[in-house]
Amino acid sequence: MAEPVLGTIQTDLSGQTALVTGASRGIGRAIALSLGRCGARVACVARDAAKLAETVDAIRATGGEADAWTCDVTDGPKINELVDQVVAKYGGLQILVNNAGITRDTLLPRMEDAQWDEVILTNLRSTFLFTRAATLVMMRARYGRVINMASVSGLVGNPGQANYAASKAGIIGFTKTVAREFAGRNMTVNAVAPGFITTDMTAALGELVNEEVKKRIPAKRLGRPEEIAEAVLFLASRAAGYITGQVLTIDGGMTA
Ligand code: NDP
Repeated sequence: MAEPVLGTIQTDLSGQTALVTGASRGIGRAIALSLGRCGARVACVARDAAKLAETVDAIRATGGEADAWTCDVTDGPKINELVDQVVAKYGGLQILVNNAGITRDTLLPRMEDAQWDEVILTNLRSTFLFTRAATLVMMRARYGRVINMASVSGLVGNPGQANYAASKAGIIGFTKTVAREFAGRNMTVNAVAPGFITTDMTAALGELVNEEVKKRIPAKRLGRPEEIAEAVLFLASRAAGYITGQVLTIDGGMTA
């Protein structure tokens, strides 16, 4: 398969504000950069202030507008505050990307309550809280794009990831429901379900596992964060206004 040509999808997001959680590295960073490249002001959210600053600097270096918002997405009350502050600063919020996520993998008999709770709070509850706060603003403006980061684990399951798969399947059910609630208001809510993408999350699996994984991927390689970002860009665009409640799987054919 020929190498993908990335960073080439263009859509005009000038005048729009996007909030991206988990923008300090990996897929979220690539998404923030893509949205910034297309003219959106990007509110970059994560815990690591130094890494967030790198994302913001990279967006500004290409002439884009971005700010860092340090926040732990498991901190419920802080999320409402943060969305209010972002809206006050930029005067609106048109695009929300719920991307922050973690894994705490282990087989079910060994899974501790804390491992379950941490994954559900970080991945699923944060998606609920950010979406509830952001859609209040979008409803008033009668325009919005919400993109939630699911996973193929949420579609087909994955041994050792009962907590993670439950959080991602939860995100898919949440996405479809909220999409129906807002479909009449010019707001779309979609999910993206990546397969294996080269980031810190998959690096943690180790080289051996990654080699095994590649054998299960018809494309014979892991995906790149930018390949997810390009799809998010499309779903965030004005052009995608008739697509809602969908899950776009991006996995090199793994679940085909
Ligand atoms: P990384 O581990 O590279 O990055 C995770 C991001 O989430 C970081 O920016 C991290 O920021 C942020 N984050 C984690 N916990 C919190 C928290 N409590 N509060 C705020 N931010 C938090 O992961 P990926 O880029 O690989 O994953 C991004 C998303 O894509 C996740 O939802 C993941 O489940 C999903 N995904 C990834 C796949 C892959 O193969 N990589 C496959 C399928 C889905 P910080 O540490 O600075 O807080």
